[in-house]
Amino acid sequence: MSLYVEPVVEATDTALPALEAVDVFRIFRTGEAETVALRGLDLDVAAGSMVAILGPSGCGKSTFLHLAAGLDQPSAGEVRAFGRPLGRLAEPELARYRARDMAIVFQSRNLLGHLTAVENVALQLGLAGVDDAEAKARAALASFGLGDRSATRAASLSGGEQQRAAIAACAARTARLVLCDEPTGELDTANEARVIEALQLLQMEHGATVVIVTHSTRVADVCDRVVLMRDGRVA
Ligand code: ADP
Repeated sequence: MSLYVEPVVEATDTALPALEAVDVFRIFRTGEAETVALRGLDLDVAAGSMVAILGPSGCGKSTFLHLAAGLDQPSAGEVRAFGRPLGRLAEPELARYRARDMAIVFQSRNLLGHLTAVENVALQLGLAGVDDAEAKARAALASFGLGDRSATRAASLSGGEQQRAAIAACAARTARLVLCDEPTGELDTANEARVIEALQLLQMEHGATVVIVTHSTRVADVCDRVVLMRDGRVA
């Protein structure tokens, strides 16, 4: 059985911004309490660019990434990826978008805890239509210093190792849109440099658009653009 799924994004979509947020609100309601995580966010991310999103904790950065990944819906407004309003895609199309067009390096949700590192990466590659997924997964893990951790269950890897495994999967898949939430948050300086280099390679060699929520000035320094968020919108 092939896991291959066709990409949602057409070749002709490349002139459009990779990501657009248009007057986006996201309101979380828990009982009586209401949190406005995003309040009128407007943001364009040019295709092929590398953008850092900075801002104080709680200003809505992760909420925006979840919307951009098609994992959540805005309460109002619209998020578009390559011109397509994610809120109006049917579920199969949205599933194809997640498997094929974009990759995430989040603080959680990257890996399935009961599968080994190599099984996790190979699964992502298989869904994205990459041939010879297991061999490529092994090579990608080795290039991120995780060769001897390939057979370890993801749940037993450290936070930093899980993030490196997630980035290895992005690098081997060459997704067109890479969404990262603090991808270097738990890494030492050497591994941070390796991750920065991998993200730059995705942008420069594969034309990926890379959006990185970060507090790291080293990461922000290599980006084409730095967006500062505050109180649920661009400051
Ligand atoms: P940041 O990534 O900038 O630290 P977040 O986007 O994680 O901020 O959160 C923005 C605000 O939304 C915070 O006040 C947070 O507590 C709240 N929030 C985020 N997700 C949820 C949720 N699922 N339910 C309730 N509140 C949430």
